[in-house]
Amino acid sequence: MNENSGLRPGTRVAHGGHDAGSTGDVAPILRPSTNFARDPSYRLIADKYGYSRDGNPTYSEPEALLADLEGGAGALLFASGMAAATAVIMALKPGDRIAAPTAMYWGLRDWLIEFCGQWGLGLDLYDVADPGALNGTLRPGETKLLWIETPANPTWEVMDIAACAAAAKAAGARLAVDSTVPTPILTRPLVHGADLVFHSATKYLNGHGDVVAGALVTARADEFWTRIRGIRAHGGAVLGPFESWLLQRGLRTLHLRVRQASANALAIASHFEGHQKLRAVLYPGLASHPGHAIAARQMQGGFGGMLSLRVRGGAQEALAVAAHLRLFVRATSLGGVESLVEHRASVEGAASPVPPDLLRLSVGIEEPEDLIADLEQALAAL
Ligand code: PLP
Repeated sequence: MNENSGLRPGTRVAHGGHDAGSTGDVAPILRPSTNFARDPSYRLIADKYGYSRDGNPTYSEPEALLADLEGGAGALLFASGMAAATAVIMALKPGDRIAAPTAMYWGLRDWLIEFCGQWGLGLDLYDVADPGALNGTLRPGETKLLWIETPANPTWEVMDIAACAAAAKAAGARLAVDSTVPTPILTRPLVHGADLVFHSATKYLNGHGDVVAGALVTARADEFWTRIRGIRAHGGAVLGPFESWLLQRGLRTLHLRVRQASANALAIASHFEGHQKLRAVLYPGLASHPGHAIAARQMQGGFGGMLSLRVRGGAQEALAVAAHLRLFVRATSLGGVESLVEHRASVEGAASPVPPDLLRLSVGIEEPEDLIADLEQALAAL
């Protein structure tokens, strides 16, 4: 916990990285040194820093801020979200089983399907749309990790973190939550009983589309966490000082960006629900969404900036809407200041479970009227 604990998250992030130190810098300091000196008695001058593959003060500050925001015992930054997620999987032991959802970030799902078997890990996929499926999937004594993503990409099903934590505990498993979309501004999974929080920090945490990064936050500094720390130090998937500094800079406006994106997404979802050219608007902030009640319980201050539109017709019609958009940028990724549109089925390929009529919107921080007008004109062009 840093010295600002007790203040509200928005205040904590705005002051993040300000360390009066010996020179009184108001802005975060970038320290690119790969190695750190020892005194004549051969002690490291700054006890915990020797070599930057193990640690660097420019990583430590955003890590401390993230641990504080999530209410965790520690945080680690990685060279990407995938590097952070795979470190969790590598910390398991041969014979352990993982339960993961069918709807989740597709890159991680495909990686799990490809690699678990090779490393002697078992993988059981459960259907997020079926609340009863999870209990049948967890194998007491064998399942050691339950991975959830909520809201889940790109259909935005909501999982009850507290119920998942209870189910994981009963089976003897850890619960890891991909909380990339809500961020600690909207949801703090550790408070609901999770053991680990994962972020693709490439997305909202940085928020400016100029850093690829990942983060993990742990509830406890236990043996599993020590293994994860060792995997980062020895595998070498560290973020690097410049990227950590950029991430720290992005974090200073996290609360404003997340709140604005959430308000914009809700405005768009409410405006287009029931539109004659759309089959459905998928957004947990809508009362009609099946996960709305759970989302309202575990998300505070908004429902996030991600939503999907299912366009009447199919893939061709969805792609035509994307083609007519002028403001929404046709690009992958999410969580930046500018709005993006993506036809996930095209990106994921033939085996994708994503409906071909689905367009995923990452709603940015623009004026909502302009975003609505852009979508209106693109739908009118159909
Ligand atoms: N989790 C979610 C929800 C994501 O959207 C992504 C990337 O798109 C990842 C994980 C993977 O993170 P990264 O691309 O930073 O490796």
